[in-house]
Amino acid sequence: MTEIETASPEETEALAARLASFLGPGDVVTVSGELGAGKTTFVRGACRALGVTGPVTSPTFTIGHRYEGRIPVSHLDLFRFASVSPAEWGDLEPYFDGAVCFVEWPEAAGVGLPQARVAVRLRHVDPEHRLVMFETQEKALLEGVF
Ligand code: ADP
Ligand code: MG
Repeated sequence: MTEIETASPEETEALAARLASFLGPGDVVTVSGELGAGKTTFVRGACRALGVTGPVTSPTFTIGHRYEGRIPVSHLDLFRFASVSPAEWGDLEPYFDGAVCFVEWPEAAGVGLPQARVAVRLRHVDPEHRLVMFETQEKALLEGVF
């Protein structure tokens, strides 16, 4: 577990961009934290670094977005799920196929969620500052990002 404080949305995006350079198709990154913590901001920064040029917004009224960057990128938001049923997993699974997949509100997914390569957690410090925590088994990845 490694943590860093960011002082602006731009800093959070830049941190996410550094992580993005280590990611490839099949990687899952969970992004947790309360409303307004900066989850979507983090995902946006990673998406920009992966070559996504269009809008990156929280897919609150759909299950997810799929973006075309230099590699495919998926963006799921499970906020409206209390838990994910097997039938719903059928709709979610294609998002993980051949893409880097960012998952906001991963708690709802339960055991069905593929193993995350990195678990990111964001926490409010004050209106401009956020604590960003990374959890991964890969020491080399953390050393590369920080
Ligand atoms: P979430 O997806 O967690 O609900 P968003 O990324 O949509 O959060 O919103 C975060 C809000 O907080 C944005 O309005 C953003 O501009 C603001 N913000 C202020 N400081 C930061 C920071 N250091 N990092 C990320 N977002 C920040
Ligand atoms: Mg969001």
